[in-house]
Amino acid sequence: MPLRPPLIRHLKFPDLFGAIDCLPCLGTPVNDRTFEVFNPSTGELLAELPDMGVTETRAAIDKAFAAQAGWAALTARERSDMLWRWHQLIVDHADDLAAILTAEMGKPLAEAKSEVSHAAAYLQWYAEEANRIYGETISPPSTDRRMLVIKQPIGVVGTITPWNFPASMVARKISPALAAGCTIVLKPAEQTPLVAGAMFALAHKAGFPEGVVNLIYASEGDAVGRELCSNPKVRKISFTGSTEVGRLLMRQCSDQVKKVSLELGGNAPFIVFDDADIGAAVDGAIQAKFRNAGQTCVSANRLYVQSGVHDEFVDKFVERVRQLHVGDGFDPGAAIGPLIDRRALTKIESHIADAVAKGGIVRCGGDRIGKEGTFFQPTVLTDISRDMTVAQEETFGPLAPVIRFDDADQVVHEANDTIYGLAAYFYASNLKRVWRVAETLEYGMVGINTGRMSSEAAPFGGMKQSGIGREGSRHGLEDYLEMKYLCMGGI
Ligand code: NAD
Repeated sequence: MPLRPPLIRHLKFPDLFGAIDCLPCLGTPVNDRTFEVFNPSTGELLAELPDMGVTETRAAIDKAFAAQAGWAALTARERSDMLWRWHQLIVDHADDLAAILTAEMGKPLAEAKSEVSHAAAYLQWYAEEANRIYGETISPPSTDRRMLVIKQPIGVVGTITPWNFPASMVARKISPALAAGCTIVLKPAEQTPLVAGAMFALAHKAGFPEGVVNLIYASEGDAVGRELCSNPKVRKISFTGSTEVGRLLMRQCSDQVKKVSLELGGNAPFIVFDDADIGAAVDGAIQAKFRNAGQTCVSANRLYVQSGVHDEFVDKFVERVRQLHVGDGFDPGAAIGPLIDRRALTKIESHIADAVAKGGIVRCGGDRIGKEGTFFQPTVLTDISRDMTVAQEETFGPLAPVIRFDDADQVVHEANDTIYGLAAYFYASNLKRVWRVAETLEYGMVGINTGRMSSEAAPFGGMKQSGIGREGSRHGLEDYLEMKYLCMGGI
């Protein structure tokens, strides 16, 4: 069997893919259609990949379905050992994976390395967690019956991942699914399929049995998504991406009442109260806003700053933002890489234009860098009001709108006034305020005096239209397990 399907051409990293015996887990293309993957920093062609559709997806689902019972029948220790081997290979190839990630997605190499180690941390966590799947026994209500609850894998899981964290999203979905005893079919984002391919190649090298992990390359999500949602052999969909596509997948799953886990968009408030440590709040805002060029679902999208500390915060924040160097992710000095595509540039420009037309002030940045590429200056806007688009929608770029506020109770109400409920941040020192605000924010994750909170050990996910379910921690494993109640009579 050829190790590399012939339609993979122009691969920028042939040695990496070749050296790791790439892609037997990739479906066999049924026609000659291909799509291209580019480096967003340079426009360089990185690869031309097979563009798969319904037929290949169906074949991958069949393979996953055939492998399911055998994978679930292994002992937890055997599944755990395989995850450990995959983890070790990812650690061994971390620099290569980070280089692929930076080339196809653009983020600075240091951030790419940190993402790969975050991905490895999920594998490590769920390799351990595979051994801790517990059921329950229930105190019997009568003497002749015994009642218990066992946990079993859901079955075949269809997963679709986004481009902004192309390595850690793959690990965050696959590792709990495999630990639980599920098999998977994954379609990565069309902009960033290469790091997913390399991770799957390493999974193959780790020795996962044929059919347990399956990869589909496609230039768009529609056809593959419809097949995953409508094929009865798939028991669950796990999706990370926009709320719009999440709603669509939920509708497509409704006929079969298929289980869904959805990690969707956010509109995170970042609130600085007048009793905050302003230096720490500035550090946190830089991290929460500009990591990944602001292209994170937990990005601080609205910065609310109380009047008493507003000017001090803005002055210090702007000074720090001006120092952020924008450049090619392989440039060691780059703190911010390119945006993913030109559509993202247009969106950030339209948010700035709308704010300025309604009275917003550009305190720094505000423009593209160069005519080619998708680089944008990190930007701070002040004098922002609620009627501006930037205060309502997720920008997904390096744009920080600052909103002045006076009333501490009112600001929490405003922060909650959105369809989203993924992440929120606030800085304060008064303990009573800290508790009250933490309890009142309608968000799945709240950072208190910190701008960064993602961890494999903690439940990641949102309330309201930011999603359903949680990833990471023991809760992430439960989302791939069915609960079965057993009642034994005649005892
Ligand atoms: P997107 O929804 O356009 O794409 C995400 C994935 O869905 C890609 O693989 C894409 O090919 C696929 N897709 C697109 N249309 C589809 C369809 N009709 N059917 C099935 N699949 C389809 O999102 P994006 O712009 O790539 O990613 C950014 C969004 O993702 C932002 O809104 C961000 O907040 C969100 N996000 C959320 C989390 C989280 O954990 N909550 C993490 C990262 C990103």
